[in-house]
Amino acid sequence: MPKYKLEYIWLDGYQPVPNLRGKTRLASEEPKSVDDLPLWGFDGSSTQQAEGSSSDCVLKPVALYPDVDRDENSFIVLCEVMMPDGETPHPSNMRATIMDDEGTWFGLEQEYFLMQDGRPLGWPEDGFPSPQGPYYTGVGYKYVGDVAREIVDKHLDLCLAAGINHEGINAEVAKGQWEFQIFEKGSKNCADDIWVARYLLIRLCEKYCVDVEFHCKPYQGDWNGSGMHCNFSTEYLRTKGGKDYFLALMDAFEKNKDEHIAVYGPDNHLRLTGLHETQSIDKFSWGVADRGASIRVPHSFVKNDYKGYLEDRRPNSQGDPYQICARVLKTIAEVPQP
Ligand code: ADP
Ligand code: MN
Ligand code: MN
Ligand code: MN
Repeated sequence: MPKYKLEYIWLDGYQPVPNLRGKTRLASEEPKSVDDLPLWGFDGSSTQQAEGSSSDCVLKPVALYPDVDRDENSFIVLCEVMMPDGETPHPSNMRATIMDDEGTWFGLEQEYFLMQDGRPLGWPEDGFPSPQGPYYTGVGYKYVGDVAREIVDKHLDLCLAAGINHEGINAEVAKGQWEFQIFEKGSKNCADDIWVARYLLIRLCEKYCVDVEFHCKPYQGDWNGSGMHCNFSTEYLRTKGGKDYFLALMDAFEKNKDEHIAVYGPDNHLRLTGLHETQSIDKFSWGVADRGASIRVPHSFVKNDYKGYLEDRRPNSQGDPYQICARVLKTIAEVPQP
């Protein structure tokens, strides 16, 4: 009888962004669905989620993923953190703040740097590599270095085996910088997949003595920062839409500008400067096919009578996708649907 290894993973209570945590539970039965899995617990006093005198926090499984990097009997169990009653979401549980809506679709574009010995993979020991230009979608040792593509490809395969709906991957503008895109239907699924994809990437990199840098602007100067563009649509936006509704929606996004920035990832002022395909952090704008706008409106959206999806370009690579998706849906909910 095989033993099944279930890696329960969750987000800790660190600010301004949580870290991933995980521990293994052995089971003698293979889990068929997340509903088969029991609640579990952990010591919240070690994760900034409880005081030592009353340290128990509860893990509530919410999604199940095959973990082929470990072996064929292994799974990742993504969890929400609950209070000891098992029913009340812990204050750090941001997934619980996302409105449930099957008709909402998200596509998140996660950018990041791969780091070794304190610098991005492929950077010289001293100083900087030659200027940006050829690295984006580049090919060749001098552009992508030696081991980066192997990591990126392995990560893609692990995510696909886990059932994560990757849409694509690419080398990014700065040397050592990469991106993957994930698309999911349902208001929580894309954010779930991003957290599991981050977990798989960080853990895979352990073997290469490589770390993943999610900070949005690890290098000042003429080096691109890292974002996590948030593409979104609701059923109403896809099927009804219309110019009046779109303009009302953009007014709501403008009115809530600061509330959005507050959850779009730390240090975003370093990245949203108005340069490097960004709008500056204190402005809100939308524009058709405009990569210098806060919200980019695809050509297809306008051509299709203002129906389809929109891209909020402000969320950064270190942002918590739960908080980002929750905020986008909150603002959308403020706008009446005629
Ligand atoms: P970029 O040029 O910014 O990289 P892409 O066109 O490559 O933009 O990516 C747009 C993203 O939008 C895709 O990755 C996809 O996940 C997402 N997307 C496409 N259609 C929808 C939709 N209807 N609702 C939400 N997201 C969508
Ligand atoms: Mn992209
Ligand atoms: Mn990109
Ligand atoms: Mn984009």
